[in-house]
Amino acid sequence: MPLDSTPTTSEADTFDVIVVGGGPAGATAARDLAAAGRRVLLLDKQGRIKPCGGAIPPRLIRDFDIPDHMLCARIRSARMIAPSRNAVDMPVENGFVGMVDRDRFDEFLRERAQGAGAERRAGTFVAWERDASGASIVTYRDKASDALAQVRCRVVIGADGANSAVAREAAPNIKRPPFVFAYHEIVRTPQRNADTTFPTRCDVYYQGDVSPDFYGWVFPHGETMSIGVGSAEKGFSLRDATARLRAQAGLSGCETVRREGAPLPLYPAKRWDNGRDVILAGDAAGVVAPASGEGIYYAMATGRLCAEAADEFLRTGDVRALATARKRFMKEHGRVFFVLWIMQTFWYRNDKRREKFVALCRDPDIQRLTWESYMNKKLVRRDPMAHVRVFFKDLGQILGLART
Ligand SMILES: Cc1cc2nc3c(=O)[nH]c(=O)nc-3n(C[C@H](O)[C@H](O)[C@H](O)COP(=O)(O)OP(=O)(O)OC[C@H]3O[C@@H](n4cnc5c(N)ncnc54)[C@H](O)[C@@H]3O)c2cc1C
Repeated sequence: MPLDSTPTTSEADTFDVIVVGGGPAGATAARDLAAAGRRVLLLDKQGRIKPCGGAIPPRLIRDFDIPDHMLCARIRSARMIAPSRNAVDMPVENGFVGMVDRDRFDEFLRERAQGAGAERRAGTFVAWERDASGASIVTYRDKASDALAQVRCRVVIGADGANSAVAREAAPNIKRPPFVFAYHEIVRTPQRNADTTFPTRCDVYYQGDVSPDFYGWVFPHGETMSIGVGSAEKGFSLRDATARLRAQAGLSGCETVRREGAPLPLYPAKRWDNGRDVILAGDAAGVVAPASGEGIYYAMATGRLCAEAADEFLRTGDVRALATARKRFMKEHGRVFFVLWIMQTFWYRNDKRREKFVALCRDPDIQRLTWESYMNKKLVRRDPMAHVRVFFKDLGQILGLART
């Protein structure tokens, strides 16, 4: 992109790595690289709270040292609600699911990156190019002055979310992953009423009129709640569906604090790096789990892996190091993503299947395996017979359905 009046870069504006985007992926990458002694710029446009249900697993809290005061609620069970409105409770054994408010959580992560030595600037990424020496030049619009500025580096990490401008500009060869669109309303929690709200329970709605291909949710956040739905179906009104969900949950009359939505990528992109000097992390790389839409843990995990890959590239000069982030991620999580993709494709297809899916959730083996793999991000190996039992129960359902 030709840009007039952009200032030339100085020594002070030269970094080892520029991380674009200060959400969970970018803030994690910046913190890790700064802690490893790299000169890092964390560039974030700021000013908008990320639309998000804010549910995080214990593994995230452990791996990324999230302090207690960041949690606005601790969830002890999930209620799965079928098209018939039959509900199945899935209590969390040995632990809880954490809830975070993204305005406080993201700012905490950015401050922590700064504390580790990363430089923070508020501004919007505008363009990327290479100079004669082969270094990356990033042009951004500075938030305070509204002027264009340029910075120089050897590696760019694109952690600027699902609509990544870095991916479009600097890695156009990377195909965008499939998306659903997710929308939610933040409402003020009503006075406690056992029928409508329960401060330690997430409600998950599997109903075609709430979502024809994903699900709807009510997540308690202490004084507020996130009520939302996701769908990839064009023409399906997420706002109307949320209104129906609120009516069903008895939450129509609550004060609405915010309405907001964002795309949710649902599968890791086939490549995350441009083979030279740019690598993508988090939603920009498509790492949101199918079926659940969980992306915060995976964003932070990829932020960390991209930081390691960039650090290795800077140390060795070997560009193949950049590809290790995706390889290592897929080795650890690829199988879970594949299983969840199959699950979403099969069970979220129509109300008949959704009804059976919720009924399956009553099964103790399924409950245990689901929670253990969500909480720890590992397929459970301790109890191989439970997997066998679940496999045959699933197969029975699928074959039964296949005849219908
Ligand atoms: C409605 C909804 C509910 C969700 N609920 C959950 C949930 O309960 N649990 C869960 O785990 N996941 C959930 N997700 C997914 C989760 O929010 C994302 O996967 C996660 O935020 C991805 O983190 P990220 O750092 O990759 O991107 P983001 O969080 O999107 O952060 C991107 C950052 O880049 C910055 N940025 C963007 N463009 C530019 C630019 N041009 N220049 C500079 N900076 C830029 C933004 O300011 C932002 O700070 C939900 C998503 C949606 C939409």
